[in-house]
Amino acid sequence: MRTPLIAGNWKMFKTVRESVAFVTDLRARVSAVTGVTILVAPTFPALPAVAAALEGSGIGVAAQNLHWEREGAFTGEVSAPMLREAGAGWAIIGHSERRTLFGDTDDSVNRKVRSTLTATLTPIVCIGETWQEREANRTLEVLDRQIKAGLDGVTGTELAGSVLAYEPVWAIGTGRTATPAQAQQAHEHIRGRLTQWFGPDAAARCRILYGGSVKPDNAAALMSQPDIDGALVGGASLDTDSFVKIVERARR
Ligand code: PEP
Repeated sequence: MRTPLIAGNWKMFKTVRESVAFVTDLRARVSAVTGVTILVAPTFPALPAVAAALEGSGIGVAAQNLHWEREGAFTGEVSAPMLREAGAGWAIIGHSERRTLFGDTDDSVNRKVRSTLTATLTPIVCIGETWQEREANRTLEVLDRQIKAGLDGVTGTELAGSVLAYEPVWAIGTGRTATPAQAQQAHEHIRGRLTQWFGPDAAARCRILYGGSVKPDNAAALMSQPDIDGALVGGASLDTDSFVKIVERARR
C-alpha cells in the first residue's frame, strides 16, 4: 500500500555544479527502477538547477529547511512558496541538526509543517530521541511529544500524504544504527499514535522513514520491517554508488 521512499539529505555538501553532475548520473542509473520514490535534498542555491536536471525523471527535490512565514523581514530565511517556485516538491523539517544547532523547537516545526502544507510542499518531519533519553527509557514519550506538537492542527488527509522520519539522534552521522528490531519498535509505536490521533486510514497511508547511518549493507534488513517505509539517508546519499544501492534495497 505504501510505496517505499528513499530520500538523500545532502546537508551542506555539494556545490551547484556538483549537485547537477550527481543527479544527472543518478537519473541515468535509476531509470529502470520502479516502485520506489526517490528524492534528493540539495542546498538552497542548487534547488533550481537540480530540479531542472531532474525534470521528467520522477525523482523529487526537497528543501532541507524553510521559514514558516510567506515573506517578511527575516534575513537569511526562505519561505515555502519560494521553495516551491525554485523547484522543490518536498521539505525536510525539524532535522536533529536544525533542532540542536539552530534552535528548531516542536513549535517552530509545527509552524513549518503548516506552511509547507499551505504551499503544497510535502513535509518530511523528523523526530527522534537522544541517547540520554533512550537510556532513561524516555524514547516513546519523546516521540509522542514531538508528534503531537509537531503535527498539531494537521488533518488526517494531510497526514496521509505527509512523511515522518524516525531518526534516533545517536544514530545520525555516527555509524551507529538502530537494530532493525529497535527501529521497528519505534515505528510501530509511531504508527499506533498516528492511528489514535489521525485515524487508521491516514496512519496506514503515511510513510515513516528510518534515518541514522543507513548504508547499503544495513538497508535491506531495516526496510524489511513492516512499519519502515524507506530511509532518510545522510552520508551515504553523497555517493552515487551507495545511494543507488540503497534505492535498490528498498524495492519490494
Ligand atoms: C540524516 O542526516 O538525516 C542522516 C540520517 O545522516 P546519516 O545517514 O549520515 O546518519
